[in-house]
Amino acid sequence: RAKSTGHNLYFVYENKMADNINAHLTLGGGLRKAIDEEEFVLHYQPKIRLPDEAVVGAEALIRWLHPELGMISPDQFIPLAEESGLILPLGEWVIRRACRQLQAWREAGYPPIKLSVNLSSRQFMQADLVDMVQRILQETGVDSEYLELELTESMLMADAQQSIEKLHGFRKLGLTLSIDDFGTGYSSLAYLKKFPIQTLKIDRSFIHDLGLDSDNDAIVKATVAMANSLNLKVIAEGVESRAQVDVLNSYKCQEVQGYLFSKPLCSHEFALYMDTHGFSNLSASIEADYV
Ligand code: C2E
Ligand code: MG
Ligand code: MG
Ligand code: MG
Repeated sequence: RAKSTGHNLYFVYENKMADNINAHLTLGGGLRKAIDEEEFVLHYQPKIRLPDEAVVGAEALIRWLHPELGMISPDQFIPLAEESGLILPLGEWVIRRACRQLQAWREAGYPPIKLSVNLSSRQFMQADLVDMVQRILQETGVDSEYLELELTESMLMADAQQSIEKLHGFRKLGLTLSIDDFGTGYSSLAYLKKFPIQTLKIDRSFIHDLGLDSDNDAIVKATVAMANSLNLKVIAEGVESRAQVDVLNSYKCQEVQGYLFSKPLCSHEFALYMDTHGFSNLSASIEADYV
């Protein structure tokens, strides 16, 4: 192999690049098989209502349980699934799995919660998406008011007119629609008014800086106020500290989601979470007094 330091460096880079390409090909090639063999799971991250901190919902987040590589995060394979078009069967699997899980919790006696599912851009462009969701709701018996779809600004803005029609299709089914990572895209306020959406989810980059940067705080405060006056529900993602919750409470933010409350959990862990946190703080502390 190369003897000089310079060459070694070169080889290191080259190998790194080869590793990346290999990972890309290995994952991409395995994706089809992984779909057929259902190597995926959904994890569920609780959504917490303010100020009482009751669990009122969850976001479904996909993971790939790769037989050799272990758990792979969606950021690593969703882009591959988008490129190859496999996002369509995979996305359908996610919606069906989420609806079945809602029914399973229901049958186990849990109070109803709202479950949200992320859509990707190619999936959102799928012509029969609304029909497909309707079919899954019928097949699983889920009441559409308990299913929410998370979309991003860039997905909506790609073809705004068509998006509006599609969103109205979902609204007719009775689903709720949320804009994910709000503030990172560039949707105009004028369009926000035209899209029939019910929820704004403030991107975690803004939440991360809460209390550290007054301009950032002003943006979050104004976004929450705007959402409240437009009668949109507003939720903050990536909440990691009590200090952030305090600020969000003072702004009248309605819901929070983040590691402070829980990381995304497998279905079994999520059920346990509901067992212990399913009540408002008040009833929880009353129970605690009896222990
Ligand atoms: P997202 O929809 O914005 O989801 C939030 C991400 O932030 C999740 O990462 C979640 O685990 C993470 N997160 C939650 N709380 C905190 C916190 O307090 N701090 C920090 N630093 N991070 C937190 P995850 O599960 O790796 O998902 C990444 C992205 O992959 C999602 O971003 C979403 O865009 C996409 N994704 C996940 N599941 C699906 C899916 O089923 N279909 C599609 N199309 N995309 C998905
Ligand atoms: Mg999301
Ligand atoms: Mg998000
Ligand atoms: Mg995100």
